[in-house]
Amino acid sequence: MTTQSTPFPAATILGYPRIGPRRELKRALEDHWAGRTDEAAFEASAAQVRRAAVTRLRDLGLTEPAAVPLDFAHYDQVLDVVLALGALPARLATDPEVAPLLTEVDGATVQPLPLAVEWALARGTTAQGPLEMTKWFDSNYHYLVPEIGPDTPLAYRGSRRADHVREAAALGVAGRPVLVGPVTFLLLAKAAADAPAGFDPLDRLDDVVAGYAALLADLRAAGAEWVQLDEPALVSDSWARTTAELASAVGYAYAALAAAQERPAIFVAAPYGTLPGEALEALAGAGVEAVGVDLVKGELPDGEAPDLGALTLVAGVVDGHNVWRTDLDAAAERAAALAALGAGATTVSTSTSLLHVPHTVADEAGAPLLPERVAGWLAFADEKVAEVLAIAAGADGAPDAFAAARTALADRAGAPGVVRPEVRARAAALTPSSFTREPYAVRRAAQEAVLDLPALPTTTIGSFPQTAELRRARAALRRGELTEQGYEDAMRAEVASVIALQEELGLDVLVHGEPERNDMVQYFAEQLDGFAVTQQGWVQSYGSRCTRPSILWGDVARPAPITVPWATYAASLTSAPVKGMLTGPVTILAWSFVRDDLPLGDTATQVGLALRDEVADLEAAGIGVIQVDEPALRELLPLRRADQDAYLAWAVAAFRLATSGVAVRTQVHTHLCYSEFEEVFGAIDALDADVTSVEAARSRMSLLPAVAAAGFERGIGPGVWDIHSPRVPSEEEVTELLRLALESVGERSLWVNPDCGLKTRGYAETTAALQALVGAARRVRAEI
Ligand code: GLN
Ligand code: ZN
Repeated sequence: MTTQSTPFPAATILGYPRIGPRRELKRALEDHWAGRTDEAAFEASAAQVRRAAVTRLRDLGLTEPAAVPLDFAHYDQVLDVVLALGALPARLATDPEVAPLLTEVDGATVQPLPLAVEWALARGTTAQGPLEMTKWFDSNYHYLVPEIGPDTPLAYRGSRRADHVREAAALGVAGRPVLVGPVTFLLLAKAAADAPAGFDPLDRLDDVVAGYAALLADLRAAGAEWVQLDEPALVSDSWARTTAELASAVGYAYAALAAAQERPAIFVAAPYGTLPGEALEALAGAGVEAVGVDLVKGELPDGEAPDLGALTLVAGVVDGHNVWRTDLDAAAERAAALAALGAGATTVSTSTSLLHVPHTVADEAGAPLLPERVAGWLAFADEKVAEVLAIAAGADGAPDAFAAARTALADRAGAPGVVRPEVRARAAALTPSSFTREPYAVRRAAQEAVLDLPALPTTTIGSFPQTAELRRARAALRRGELTEQGYEDAMRAEVASVIALQEELGLDVLVHGEPERNDMVQYFAEQLDGFAVTQQGWVQSYGSRCTRPSILWGDVARPAPITVPWATYAASLTSAPVKGMLTGPVTILAWSFVRDDLPLGDTATQVGLALRDEVADLEAAGIGVIQVDEPALRELLPLRRADQDAYLAWAVAAFRLATSGVAVRTQVHTHLCYSEFEEVFGAIDALDADVTSVEAARSRMSLLPAVAAAGFERGIGPGVWDIHSPRVPSEEEVTELLRLALESVGERSLWVNPDCGLKTRGYAETTAALQALVGAARRVRAEI
């Protein structure tokens, strides 16, 4: 048992951005990976980023012991647990480049695994390839998926978090190390490839708990008084285990950890949704000292009032996942409602780690992009620290902060553009016919007549390589070294060369190549009313990759056509059909910060209407094929099954609203990046697109039999070139894939295209791979 002496801090945050205010970690990682710096230099840069975060948080007022979270990961927090437990899948542990780096665990001294192992797991620096990467709950952050089998090592070998505790102490800060908790770690893992059928990583709970017990002892020895273990898996019910089974698993795991002799006090955090009452009660019964609940995305624990004893409750009332200033009065009220639930103390925190938001609004000051008035409504990570401190102090303790929050909220509610009556009226006037096209058979006949395409038509997903020249031109425009006209001329020249290349290759449906788009969401956000963009608002997506989400603050409308001039220019250069290219409503929302003052479904309708206007203008300008990309359709799927149907209903409706205003002869395409689409297959079908392209090369068309069995009859383009790899497929390979596809898909329905857009590829590979693709299509056409 711990002899808990330090109470849980009255105000804290669950985590802080790791990338650095100027993306210092990104640079450090990329310099090191490119061989420009050695390990010592990389470690020094990483330490600098960490120390800057720790002192920043202290200076912002997180001065209580254990108030500063120590959650720094070089690459990913799930990977950090894999490393701490040496949980390498056999394929990687036996790799000749990795094996010599895995020192024996001798129990007495622990030594974190070397950086080279980390890169092998994260980036696939050996022949084995990396761990798979996937989305972290309903965020745009991606984690590495552990591969656990019956024999995967799970013994504690050391964690850098212990060093981070000592490092913070040297700065005078008693930090709180943060790690993914044992139950979530196993739930996020997939069974190792060599595991027997029916094996579930959660079967290894005892071993993982033993590893965590040693980890906690190590953290205690380093001086940690509290540890935070994140158990977001508890808020989701999309697992093979029931909520009751999960509650019993956490009860069991944490009882074992709480019984350990030498450990810090344990704080279990459950971000991203409602913590079920039975899980909360199980944690209290297990003897952990504090539990954090998400009261922004989630509700108070449901069910009967659980018996919580003296458990400290940590009220996550400041939104860690979005950028709006908190309504401090409402937040204080929610914290008070939580306090009424238990007999122990209640303290204040963010709902999730601040990993999902940029560092500080102050960085936007003087930047031309973010309107000052909108900036006044926002709170990024540093501003949220001030908010938790204010809520903990209370309205009497922090009257100025509460007053300022009320003023900002009122200013936002009344600002022009937030509510636009004409946008609301247009949405209110929609009828079922606004969402429906003629039956597919009618559309198909009309489209075949006007488009006159061969069987197995070839096309691409939209973007062509974003060359260094294109990026340079964009940078020059930003710096004022290139005029608008000069920039546009450069982009038009690129469109002309992309069209010429596609004609030469013999593709059937051409694209303009998207050279003018900095990003498939930001490009639209910059041209739609209701969105703002930032200068420094970077958030980590995975590893060194960051995105700069746009901020959707008001009612959405399209003041002028966006893509029409590009599409029509491209079409003027060729007699082949040119496909117009738009980003879909759900994807625009998924990759932006969305409003918290309007249901997301209503916002989706507004974006759908704006895109509907764009689709109509493209059609009127003679563009007969229009693609609306929805790669993020699955991303926003709610974590609780009960919420999923309602989400899919509005998501599908927004897409249909965008695409159903066209004539039967106009062919609507959609593109989805992934191939695992069982859970959303019904929704994809309901999009009612004439042609759907999906990723399929790596899985060798394995999704098609199920698609065919479900009676999907419209056009489908399973990707035949894995564009995530620089490898160029041969004509034989593509031919094989097409023959395989024809076993499930009728020859009138099969399209031939790559897995995704080509923006990350170079021209040499692009040309060679598209040659193979067109050649294979011709060969297979001749066979049918
Ligand atoms: N049209 C986009 C492109 O080709 C689609 C990108 C995506 O699916 N993520 O780049
Ligand atoms: Zn894609």
